Amino acid sequence: MNAPRPAYRGRFAPSPTGPLHFGSLIAAVASYCDARAAGGEWHVRIEDIDLPRARPGAERAIMSALERYGFAWDGPVVRQSERTAMYEDALDALRDRDDVYACACTRRELEAAPIGAGGERVYPGTCRDGVPANRSGRAARAWRLRVGASRMAWRDRLQGPQAQDLARDVGDFVVQRADGLFAYQLAVVVDDDAQGITDVVRGADLLAATGWQLEIRRLLGLAPVRHAHLPLVVEADGSKLSKSASAAAVAGLPPAQVLLQTLNLLQQQPPAELAQASTRQILDWATLHWQPARFTGLPKVPIAQQQGLEV
Ligand code: GLU
Repeated sequence: MNAPRPAYRGRFAPSPTGPLHFGSLIAAVASYCDARAAGGEWHVRIEDIDLPRARPGAERAIMSALERYGFAWDGPVVRQSERTAMYEDALDALRDRDDVYACACTRRELEAAPIGAGGERVYPGTCRDGVPANRSGRAARAWRLRVGASRMAWRDRLQGPQAQDLARDVGDFVVQRADGLFAYQLAVVVDDDAQGITDVVRGADLLAATGWQLEIRRLLGLAPVRHAHLPLVVEADGSKLSKSASAAAVAGLPPAQVLLQTLNLLQQQPPAELAQASTRQILDWATLHWQPARFTGLPKVPIAQQQGLEV
């Protein structure tokens, strides 16, 4: 078992698929201020679980951007690529309890499955009771989690009450891919627990993934965490601002100015006197005056509108 949890331990968990972009910076600022305002710790975890998607140099670019923006983090920076043994252990535990099963379906075979409210194809359960005879010769195996029939219900600090019917909207989902890579859903739960994280503050594009993650948490018998999903900032044409969208990397703009813009977007109303302040002074001001309740004026993001779980 892990050491007792502190009252608040937060984290920022960027994927090194490119330089820090504005959407990620918003998550960094909000998770940082929320943690520090509560007197808590703030950790940085590099989510390079999907190594084929990681870009060389992206981690360094993200870390130097965090420094430029005046962030100070607690403890060492953790990398998912170095934690495979922990994910193996978690998968073993799930396997021992028959909560996961081997799946031999190809992506192609699943193309006919309907897309659920979570934005992903709902697995039809083909291999749930054993790989059918006509597929048994295949070597590649993904591991899927058997999702319970019950509705997941939780309360998001910013988005309010949430409910998800995993069986209907998601189906049994992959926790280890056929190529051996662990799914983000499993890694994030194992990491948050191992790091003693109490509070997850991140973009609402991950709201739909929360139900999946809570299900893994429940099956592994892990301590609960609080969630706060930030409203998504969209580009002028309404499309999502994300690493893969056309959003320009924040590197290059004057950091203090970008921070003030971020705080304005988060409805924190930084005063004009901060115009000449340093990034550290701006973050200190934001921490001291942090009012997440002001987010309630921002649009709520229904789970059903979340398409794809890009991480
Ligand atoms: N790695 C994810 C991203 O960069 C964030 C995951 C999380 O905060 O749980 O979008």
